[in-house]
Amino acid sequence: MNSSSVPLLTPRDLVEIGRRGAAAPACTNCGELVCPGWESTPSSFDRARLQRIGMLRQGGDEEATLREHHPRGTHIWSPDAPIAPAFFPYNRCDVWQCGRCGRAFLLYTEYGGYYEDERIRALDSDLVDDDAWRPLGLRSPASSTL
Ligand SMILES: [Zn+2]
Repeated sequence: MNSSSVPLLTPRDLVEIGRRGAAAPACTNCGELVCPGWESTPSSFDRARLQRIGMLRQGGDEEATLREHHPRGTHIWSPDAPIAPAFFPYNRCDVWQCGRCGRAFLLYTEYGGYYEDERIRALDSDLVDDDAWRPLGLRSPASSTL
């Protein structure tokens, strides 16, 4: 897959996209995918229902931090965990949108030792957190080693 074919989205873009999508109720095309926290994609999941509209990845997975961002005591599976693009797993996500109603989702693939798990989370603009986020090219060398 050519990762450069969609734009890199800023936290501000995420808020915009999330607001637009949430204005309408989930449609029958994407309703079963709506989940407030991360979930494995259902076996019936068909990517063709969604369109990839952007990415949050800056550079390769190797250099992206594995740190998570939970200032309010949430954990990775929490439905109210911040959506913080500078942190794991959001720094590996692509943003997808329902072709019918415009609802937006985050998707990334978790690579375990013996499995790959594709995970999805509905984009809630109220949870977007730009903590530590820097535009591409403006990250200091020190921050990438944390
Ligand atoms: Zn939809």
